[in-house]
Amino acid sequence: MNSNPTPWRATVLTLFPEMFPGPLGISLAGKALASGLWALEARDIRASATDKHRSVDDTPAGGGPGMVLRADVLAAAIDAADAQDRPRLVMSPRGRPLTQARVAELAAGPGPLIVCGRFEGIDQRVIDARGLEEVSIGDYVLSGGEIAAMTLIDACVRLLPGVMGKLASGTDESFSDGLLEYPQYTRPQTFEGRQIPDILISGDHAKVAKWRLAEAEALTQERRPDLWAARPKALESGRKRKPPKITTGE
Ligand code: SAH
Repeated sequence: MNSNPTPWRATVLTLFPEMFPGPLGISLAGKALASGLWALEARDIRASATDKHRSVDDTPAGGGPGMVLRADVLAAAIDAADAQDRPRLVMSPRGRPLTQARVAELAAGPGPLIVCGRFEGIDQRVIDARGLEEVSIGDYVLSGGEIAAMTLIDACVRLLPGVMGKLASGTDESFSDGLLEYPQYTRPQTFEGRQIPDILISGDHAKVAKWRLAEAEALTQERRPDLWAARPKALESGRKRKPPKITTGE
């Protein structure tokens, strides 16, 4: 058991609390959750509804299709969650795209409150009045914020101290230094006639590190010219690639 009295905590406001922990209860995140390295609270927005139908949404002002989550109900749900001193996020395709840098910041803090939208989204006034930070997980539209929230939480949890065990701490991974990761190989040595690159079985750690860096650079240049173009800045600010740690699985 973890002795930390206030572990990193994610509080999720959702109309579907039964979706949690879902995939967050399995494997790396699930084991860490069970051992108290982090905590998860899924709160039902509907519990803050006040009318006799327990309604949480209404038609959009100005007309148009679908329904919008009500500002008063959502504000009451946010206030009841008592998260004034934590980052308060709302998942939204209009938000700032989530990056590994923002994930690392969120993982280093106390853990966020996350509002999950549904239907056409949520009333703008609650975003403004409660100072919610809009976060997107990509340029596509999901049917609700829950899977987006799970994505964000999963990315944070694997960076928490103790969660990845003896695996390297995440500093060698894709995005951690503005580069995509080099290709990985494991046994068998020959697969359908394809060999593991000789250098990886040479035992020469310096050469392996050099090869991996060259592969990472080539991949990034080819696949993500945007990341490659931004890289000199990242290097200037001191985020230099450390030689990859050699690990042998979980
Ligand atoms: N009408 C909205 C989309 C609503 S989708 C629009 O055009 O912007 C319903 C909910 O799903 C959103 O409120 C948000 O919480 C979530 N969602 C959908 N796509 C998302 C994305 N790419 N990133 C984060 N959350 C998303």
